[in-house]
Amino acid sequence: MNTDKDLHFIHAYNRNITFVKGEEVYLWDDTGKKYLDMGAGIAVSALGYSNETYKQGLKDQIDQLIHVSNLYYTEPSIRASEYLSAATGLDRVFFTNSGAEAIEGALKLARKYAYNKRKDSKGEIIAMNHSFHGRTMGALSVTGTAHYREPFEPLIGGVSFAEYNDLESVKALVTDDTCAVLLETLQGEGGIYPAAEEFIRGLRTLCDEKDIALIFDEIQCGMGRTGKMFAYQHYGIKPDIVTSAKALGCGVPVGAFAASERFADAMVPGDHGTTYGGNPLATAAVCKVFEIYEQDKILEHVNQIAPYLFEKLLALQKKYPAMISDVRGKGLILGIEVTGSNAQIVAKGLEKGLILIAAGSNVVRIVPPLVIEKTHVDECMKILDEIFAYFCSKWK
Ligand SMILES: *Cc1c(COP(=O)(O)O)cnc(C)c1O
Repeated sequence: MNTDKDLHFIHAYNRNITFVKGEEVYLWDDTGKKYLDMGAGIAVSALGYSNETYKQGLKDQIDQLIHVSNLYYTEPSIRASEYLSAATGLDRVFFTNSGAEAIEGALKLARKYAYNKRKDSKGEIIAMNHSFHGRTMGALSVTGTAHYREPFEPLIGGVSFAEYNDLESVKALVTDDTCAVLLETLQGEGGIYPAAEEFIRGLRTLCDEKDIALIFDEIQCGMGRTGKMFAYQHYGIKPDIVTSAKALGCGVPVGAFAASERFADAMVPGDHGTTYGGNPLATAAVCKVFEIYEQDKILEHVNQIAPYLFEKLLALQKKYPAMISDVRGKGLILGIEVTGSNAQIVAKGLEKGLILIAAGSNVVRIVPPLVIEKTHVDECMKILDEIFAYFCSKWK
């Protein structure tokens, strides 16, 4: 559809609601209708809406200094680098404006490391089928969905795709020119698939043996969503490079990649840069986010509330076994795999004032603000029950 509102937009999105206000885990549209938000701006607004401490932090920074270039240090960027380094367990950080740019930087870093070892390295990258890493040319090149890539080819070369959770399929693609193995620690857009322990540990061993950069994309599953600050912390290993964005700024556009010293030091001044990336306003937001996570014990809260939500979703599956083929995920990144149209469920949700997001071809994704309470879960489940009851006869 091409509504009047779309007149001066490139029609890259199908949308029809105009939001004007947010409060806690609720949004309001321009007609005054209220929505329970189980999508959090695609896993961004982890603190919900209108958090007073967060807003005050931003206001203070606006009064102080909004932007200077990366030719200079700023206090918020230094503090944010310390926070993110501590949270990831990795030595050095580079701030970007988005997730896709964090992926671009991570890939450049892996290639530079390989180049430093051998100038004629082909810089091959192994990514995963059904992965999602963003829409810029480099990030698109490693995104494992052919129909996203094909209209924009030729993309960057040297990329091959393995099967997620299949270590042998990765091993089969490794050559002397492999510089990076890239994967989401939990696949988000592809349909909410957590990584198997043997897969993650096997990749760590493989990459260590071959001196390949193991890159985890935690843009969606990181920042506490799975119940640990970063999802790889469930597996007792660390990547060489990790990407973050989405909830890193909780609404202010900011991303980052962090790396161990060994890889990070491959980059020298002149290799990479950004005008805005990590500017004082963006990194003041990052600092506030980390501060609030600590003060409000966000991780503990996720670990408390997530099992309650999961249990309710399992009960829903029990009630509608012909419609729900699987419920999976970790913490507050959950997927309901349905036997009918996931888009229909999402649309019906909006009609009933519940925001859900589609993932893959048949999954309804639940990535709420991490601050949801049991009452919100109950409210969500009541509406979900109504939705499945509505489609129950229609899907037969
Ligand atoms: C959203 C997302 C990206 C891209 O982030 P943008 O900020 O939209 O560029 C990359 N990887 C994953 C896993 C994501 O979920």
